[in-house]
Amino acid sequence: MAEIIYDCPRCGVKKTSFDINGQNFIGKDSWRTILELYSICRHCHKGTIFIVKQINSNRDITKLIQNSGNVNDLIEITKYVNIRENSTDKPPEFLPKDINEVFEEGIICKSVACFNASATMFRLCLDKATKELLPDDNIHGLNEKIKSKRLELNLSQEALADKCGLDRTYVSLIERSKRNPSYLSLIKLCDGLEINIKELLE
Ligand SMILES: [Zn+2]
Repeated sequence: MAEIIYDCPRCGVKKTSFDINGQNFIGKDSWRTILELYSICRHCHKGTIFIVKQINSNRDITKLIQNSGNVNDLIEITKYVNIRENSTDKPPEFLPKDINEVFEEGIICKSVACFNASATMFRLCLDKATKELLPDDNIHGLNEKIKSKRLELNLSQEALADKCGLDRTYVSLIERSKRNPSYLSLIKLCDGLEINIKELLE
């Protein structure tokens, strides 16, 4: 079976051997044939698709896979197909640089089905985007206002948390001034407390 030596993008092992299990002709760059090689790392047994170009004009490399032995002398690896390329999502235009970076990270996490991580990234984008709307320091008296509003409505911390879709512990931390709520949490709290955000921040 033909083999190729390359750094494995799946397990990170340098200069490891891959078995070439299949190939696909995808075009020509003048005389140079371009192939996709379906390759399995001998170290981690995971597959990678390498895009390779012919470097030796004397050989018909469409029969590459029939080779026995190493084919590194016959081809140049131009890139490998990365699962990140699955994603066609793009960040919105004109984002500030720091938010754009976090957003792109969120897209990558989403494209590899790490939904918790991607949600964390997108939430961080919202926090970064809305940070300027919040006062810098502890919002004076906010904790007491939230607590007294809650008691006015005859709600337990748990009931308020449920009503707002927040965690009870989080509501408790805010009421004890141990946490400053994010802008989004404030909006949720205002919904739950049936007041507007201006009233709460005054
Ligand atoms: Zn590997």
